[in-house]
Amino acid sequence: MKYSELVGLYEYLEQTPSRLSKIEKIAAFFREADAKTLDKVVLLMQGKVFPPYSEKEMGVADKLMIKVIASSAGFSQSEVENEFRKTGDLGLAVEKMLSVKKQKNLVNRELDVTKVFENLQKLASVEGKGSQDSKISLIKELISSAQPKEAKYIVRTVLEQMRVGVAEGVLRDSIASAFFEFKDQEEKKKTISAIEWAWFLRPDYAEIAKIAKEHGLRGLEKVTVEVGKPYQVLLAEKAQDLKEALNTFERPILEFKYDGARVCIHKKGGKLWFYTRRLEDVTKQFPDLVKLVASGIKAHECIIEGEMLGTDAKSGSPLPFQQLSQRIKRKYDIEQMARTIPIQVNLFDIVYLDGRDLFSETLEKRKKLLESVINVIPGKFQLAEKLVTKNIKEAEKFYERALKARQEGVMVKNLDASYQPGRRVGYWLKVKPIMETLDLVITGAEWGTGKRTSWFGTFILSCRRDEGFAECGMMGTGIKEKKSVDEDVTFDELTEQLKLYIISKKGNEVKVKPKIVVEIAYEEIQKSPTYSSGFALRFPRLLRVRTDKSPEEADDVGRIERLYSQQRGRKSAF
Ligand code: AMP
Repeated sequence: MKYSELVGLYEYLEQTPSRLSKIEKIAAFFREADAKTLDKVVLLMQGKVFPPYSEKEMGVADKLMIKVIASSAGFSQSEVENEFRKTGDLGLAVEKMLSVKKQKNLVNRELDVTKVFENLQKLASVEGKGSQDSKISLIKELISSAQPKEAKYIVRTVLEQMRVGVAEGVLRDSIASAFFEFKDQEEKKKTISAIEWAWFLRPDYAEIAKIAKEHGLRGLEKVTVEVGKPYQVLLAEKAQDLKEALNTFERPILEFKYDGARVCIHKKGGKLWFYTRRLEDVTKQFPDLVKLVASGIKAHECIIEGEMLGTDAKSGSPLPFQQLSQRIKRKYDIEQMARTIPIQVNLFDIVYLDGRDLFSETLEKRKKLLESVINVIPGKFQLAEKLVTKNIKEAEKFYERALKARQEGVMVKNLDASYQPGRRVGYWLKVKPIMETLDLVITGAEWGTGKRTSWFGTFILSCRRDEGFAECGMMGTGIKEKKSVDEDVTFDELTEQLKLYIISKKGNEVKVKPKIVVEIAYEEIQKSPTYSSGFALRFPRLLRVRTDKSPEEADDVGRIERLYSQQRGRKSAF
């Protein structure tokens, strides 16, 4: 398949707002792709050349790309930089520069999808000395035979700045209409949920599209977890309060909601893999967990889930999530880090045991199986604290105990429910204290992607500090695409207002004058070296624009600091 055909599709998608038209076009495209190219096309459409969960990266930054563009198109680096400054997008820059280039391409070879895909994949495997040169020549080979529009998308793919924005739901529905026919809506729904189910268990639409094309519905229904490959975990919903959560289920079980990171432990004989909830492979980062599993798991083959905490090396008491997150990101001195911040794992579920997946089993049964395969290593590798009760007084005590132990709150789970991968179904309910809101000022923004390209999609939040402002988070939630009630704040409204205050532009980002005050809800305050205030809000969400407040009346860093120190071990909120 020619790469220009894929570029035609990108262009169409970029210009077409209608979801249905997008799906039709993509489906036709998928049908045309042969078995060998289909998976490549599905990945490239998402601006990727590896499955979403892969750790591999092309590792090319703007600076290197400027060099490549200059040398492939016969311009100086400063000419490319100039164009980049004007457009804020190296993809557009290369397109424009190639279009006006007087000296036509000497190489007259048509690019095909496989060639582009393979060269881009190779970028991830070049390492060490001379790797820059190898990367340059891999991209140069493509750009020097590319038409201007092709070059635009190659550059954007390499920089991971594809703006076409094919949402996961669109891909799913496109696979459905490409490879299946439906008698009625009912059958369509069934097919779509089979595709989605398969994708929860193998979160890579390239693989799912191939299965759909080659083996149909039967093939999709046969997809199950594979030990060693990540799947999408069951998610929790929020409960109003403990009482509501208890009343939701006939037979609830309460567990500590630990302030750590979810870990899925895959074991196949002596082989181990650890995945986070975001499907990152963190096996290398946790050699200490390898040791714990060796004596802590009796089963030959299994996948179990738990929450991993960092602990104080001396006292063994749990530390806030932030400490552990340093270990998750760590690429070097791993053994040293394992000694500085030892871990504790609190296990709460099992989804696979010796050849059989357990998704359709009840939580009660899964808990029993989990207990049967674990050798508890106290304080290190243990079962999550739990309590089976319907009694509110007992539940409140348990909740207090979780907060006193410096954990987030409790999970209330339905003992009779199965395990639904990837879903935020109401089988698990989280109960945690609500944080007070903050009034902050917007001091910057980033342009959105996909159908939000003409709006700012992310906003930089700042609090007052001394005479100025200091950043404390990035927010993209709580803002609406369309108004459904008067109070809703839309991307369009915020964008129009902020445009008036732009001070500077850099790439995708703008800085704005501190004018707009917003009321922000969030889940937690963390210490952060990334933001100039030294604090970061976790999951900030816009509640409303405070037109009644001036930036001088926004909250200051002192209030954030106070809330930060209050948030641990707080009294329950009911
Ligand atoms: P949230 O991130 O607030 O949606 O809450 C869900 C997350 O809580 C899960 O993904 C786990 O990482 C974490 N968690 C902590 N303790 C538990 C527990 N006992 N059961 C399930 N999830 C837990």
